[in-house]
This record gives sequence, C-alpha cells and structure tokens, in this order.
Amino acid sequence: MKMRTQWLIPLAVLVSACGASTPDEQTEEASYKNLHALHHDLGQGASGEAVRELHTYLARFGYFPNEKLARDYPAWRPVVETPPTDAAVYDRYTEQAVRKLQLQYGLSVTGVVDEPTRAALRLPRCGTPDGIPDMDPSNKFSTEANIGYGIPHPLATYRFNGPWEAADRLRDAIYSWTIETDQEIIPANNPNLTVEYGPLDMSIYGATHFTVAGLTITMNSNVPWYTGSVPSFPPGSPEDITDFQTVVVHELGHALGLGHSGFLAVMKPVTLPREFNRNLAVDDKVGISIKRDSHVIIQGYAPEDIAVGNVEGSVWIINGPDHSMWKWDGGSGFVRDAANGDARAIAVGRDGIPWVGAPWGAYRRTSADPTQGTWQKLSGLCVSDIAASVQPDPRGPGLPYIPAVWLVTCDNNIYKYDNGLFWYQDIVFPRNKAARIALDTAGLPWVVSTDGVVYHRASTDPNSGYYADLPASLPYHADIGVGPCCYGWGVRRFPAGYPGGDVTPFQYQPGEPDVTGYWRWLTYPGQAVKISVGPKGDPWWFDAVGRIWHSRW
Ligand SMILES: [Zn+2]
Repeated sequence: MKMRTQWLIPLAVLVSACGASTPDEQTEEASYKNLHALHHDLGQGASGEAVRELHTYLARFGYFPNEKLARDYPAWRPVVETPPTDAAVYDRYTEQAVRKLQLQYGLSVTGVVDEPTRAALRLPRCGTPDGIPDMDPSNKFSTEANIGYGIPHPLATYRFNGPWEAADRLRDAIYSWTIETDQEIIPANNPNLTVEYGPLDMSIYGATHFTVAGLTITMNSNVPWYTGSVPSFPPGSPEDITDFQTVVVHELGHALGLGHSGFLAVMKPVTLPREFNRNLAVDDKVGISIKRDSHVIIQGYAPEDIAVGNVEGSVWIINGPDHSMWKWDGGSGFVRDAANGDARAIAVGRDGIPWVGAPWGAYRRTSADPTQGTWQKLSGLCVSDIAASVQPDPRGPGLPYIPAVWLVTCDNNIYKYDNGLFWYQDIVFPRNKAARIALDTAGLPWVVSTDGVVYHRASTDPNSGYYADLPASLPYHADIGVGPCCYGWGVRRFPAGYPGGDVTPFQYQPGEPDVTGYWRWLTYPGQAVKISVGPKGDPWWFDAVGRIWHSRW
C-alpha cells in the first residue's frame, strides 16, 4: 500500500541524530546511535543499549509518561500509561508502545522493532509528541477534546522571525489551511502565534510548543532549509536539504489544533528525506474543517433525499410532500426542476446530471439545468435508492473514467447500470439486505444494510468481488455518503425514539479492508437523516426538522 512503501524508504541521512531534548530545553544528552545501527529485530525479552535508546525515543515522542511533555502540552497524555519496568529491557509495555507507534506511522502492527520500524525510527520527525489528544486515530477529530493549544478562531495573528524568503513560504502554508475554513491568520506585532528559527536537535525538523512568547513554532535552524516556491531542489543542494513549506504547513496544523495523523497526510509525524508534502490531503481538510469551519444551514425546505455529485459538485434535493426535484443555486436556495419530476431518491452523475429513483422506475435527466430538459426513463425497477459517480473503464488502464450508476430496489437488492439498456443484479451482496447505497470516485459501491451495517464493495463488476464490512460501523447506520476515494461520511442512527442520527466521517485506506486501524470514526452531532458527500470530501446532510447543513469548505 502506498503509505507503507513510502515510509519504508531506508535512509542514510540524519542518522547521527542525537539528543532527546524538547525544543526549548536542550539539556538532555540522548543518543540513538545503537538503535540506528541495529540490524536485527527487537521484541519482548530483548535488552541492552538499543532497547534503552528505544525507550528514550518512545518517551520523548509521547509514548510513555514524561513530565516535560505534560507541562508543555496540557492535552497530551502518555500513549502507554506505564513505563517499562527496567529501562534496558523490552517488556510488555514496550510492546504496547511499539504497536501504537506502528499504527501512528502507518506500519504493519507487529509489536516488534522489525526492519520497517527501524527505518521509521531513523527518520527525523516532528518534535510535537504523539498522543495529542489521543493516540487512537479514531479520536483525532474529537470535537470534545481540549487539545491544549490552538490559536483563536476565526481571527488569529502571527509574527515571523526568520529570513524574508521563508516568509513567503509561510504565507503559502497559512493560505493552505485558511482556504479550507473560515479561519483568518494575519500578521501582527503582538501575535497569538510566533514562528521562529531556533536550534533543535537533528532528529527534529520543527515543533509547535509553548514558550515564554506563547504558542510558538520553532523551525530547526540547524536544518539546511529550501525556501523556494518551486517544489524541486536546485542541482547541487546538500543531501539533507529540507523543504521549509512542507514542515511549516505541518506545524501550522498543530497550531490550529490538529494532532498527528496515522494517514498519509500533511499531519503525519515523520517527514521523509527530500520530501515535498505541501498540499493538504483530504484527511487534513476534513480535520481542519471540523475544528475551524462553520456550517451553513439552509432552511425553508422539507427534503426527502439529498445528492451531491462527488465528481462535479452540484447539489440536488427531493422536496416533499410533492416529491419534487430542486437544484442548489449556489447560495441559500434551490431552483425547482421545471420538468415536474416526482421521485423518492436522487443521485448526481459526473456531468452534473441527476438520476432519480421511484417505485415506478429509474430516470436520468436530459439536462443539468433545472429550467430545461426532461426526465428519461431508464429502468422499470421499483427503486428505493440510487447512486452515481465514475469508474475506471474496464477495457484497460489509462482510459478516461466512465459513468457508473447503481441502485437499490424496493425489495432491497442491488443493481448496476451497464450504460446502455440493461441493469445487472449484484449477485454478491446478500439478497433482500441492502438499504442505502453510495459510490466512491473509483466507482466502488458502499452499502448500508437493512440492519445498519456499512459494507464496501471491492470490485465494480456486479458478478464478482466481495463486500467487506466496516468493523466499527456495527450496526448503527442509516445512510452513507462517499467523496473522493475513499473518504466518506455516514449517518449513525440514534436509538429508537430519537429523530435523527449523528454524522460520522470515516476514512478508508485502500487495500487493507481488514485492518481496523484504518477506519476512523468521529461522532459529529447533527441529528442527521440523510447525507451526501461532494468532490472535496465535504458533507451535505439534512436533519429531522428539514434543515440542510453543509460546510463552507
Ligand atoms: Zn507534528
């Protein structure tokens, strides 16, 4: 899988890293010399200097109790609460910590310091510890957690003490975050955030921490920084040259309140040698949106279903009680479909063309413009839900993606459209068990079963493949929306008697359907009823009293 292969690159630079000190207090003299030179696995029962250094590393980066971290990062908690009994012996607490580190670093979770783990331990990384607010990636976005730091919202100020050419890259990095939210960060002399150059030990590129100046990002002045705007290093650059913007955009994520991500994102804790990673991944965008965005609420409608095209982005609803179709006008209202459609479920294809399902069939619109066009009948099936996106052309790689449309019938079976005359029944999903369906942008269906479990299809061919369930989803789901592969949002049902459910984003790392660590869930209270997700992973949902919610981002 992508993350692993990338993270497994062995590296020769910066292996002489020494010093386990935190950025603003460089009195410790730790060395990882033996750990870095290690050529065999370490597991329970191992002992010696390399184990001692492993413990120093784990304690320095948040995995064991550490008084200094507790002081510097109020929300931090040791990932493993009990330190090893003997600092020179690898015991069960060491194994627990190594397992958590492997999860955080995107490695196979073995509990053994194997070669991939040794390679990761040799990488320089962020000085901000793991374990803020919780090591469990499922809690990274917890809205209740007080992360212990984070600049004011929606307006914050910063000051940069560093070379002028780096100031431009800092501005670019700030823009990457603010564009996704309603956060503003502007220069000021008495700022909420100081970004400065300062000496850190060479195992650390940068760190976000409290100093006497308040919240501070320190960029290691011992690192040979690249501060150009073009993402490539000039010929003849030193081997350990490091992209300033890549590191500062990560540290800004901390300043805005994000912890480390276990996904391949800007917020992963480790930076690879000569890596450019300046652009936010969907993971980062969703995280910051939840912390720093505000939702828009549209009122005055009585939606029955909602659809956002996850390729093209237009938004349609079915509005009761006449089951009419309406297209979002880009502001606070919707425009009624002039063709007088009447249906129960809606989806939007890659070209902005809506599809609808009704007890008397499935229909596609002849125009994306609600004031023109008609509805064209393309199936006589009794339809209860419908989904549209794109999929790779089955004739081979490299061809443009083609439209993909799937539906759920009134008797809870799944069908796929062949883009011509026929609908093929999905012979893999259990009969009469499907309730809701969404497609990701690889054309793979995500299905909520009649008993509320979310399943993910591993193939676009209705005659083959298998479904994997989301282990953490049991058995509460009422609806699902999926954005760019493979970011989704679900609606989690409340117990009987409640009007709607919580909105729960999840992320799926392709290729590892059975690894629970790669599902991530957050409860985002919204009393939602149905949900759909746009091309940026941005959710739209409506609640039990008909309010339509969406993020600004
Ligand atoms: Zn970090």
